[in-house]
Amino acid sequence: MGLDALVYCNCVETGRLTKPHPFPDKLFINEEGCPSIPEDPDDANDSTKFLAHLNWILSSPCEHICLRAVHHRLSKLALVRAIRAELSQMPVLFPTILEKVIYSGSHCGDYLTLEDVLRVKTELVPLSQFQCRDPEMEPFIKDFSIQMAELVERALALRKPIVF
Ligand SMILES: [Zn+2]
Repeated sequence: MGLDALVYCNCVETGRLTKPHPFPDKLFINEEGCPSIPEDPDDANDSTKFLAHLNWILSSPCEHICLRAVHHRLSKLALVRAIRAELSQMPVLFPTILEKVIYSGSHCGDYLTLEDVLRVKTELVPLSQFQCRDPEMEPFIKDFSIQMAELVERALALRKPIVF
């Protein structure tokens, strides 16, 4: 168990696929920034089509693995708790990171909107300079800081959410 974060690429939008989608006319970009197809309860082949769609994503139909421009394992569960304990000493500096990124060590299925991402961006500077109470935590906070900076940079460049 741990916390993963990713930003989807925009190869569908920019026409940089190396493998065509099985139902290109149905393709849309969902709120997570991921290409998806609509559910159609009236279509008896709905689940077959969705499986074909998922297999298309898993086949990495562009230069990125599974349409992911960046994907980080932020941390293992216990470490997320330890990072949270450190940053909670200065909650006013890290409101978005504490409430929306490391509020739990294993959340998934939620995401940071571009507005949230811009807030996290302002929290990256104090994060990069953070003095740990426990010196053993310093390399982990540093890693976390570098990974968050890369996720934020990619999300803003692609104008996509950061997905957990
Ligand atoms: Zn791509």
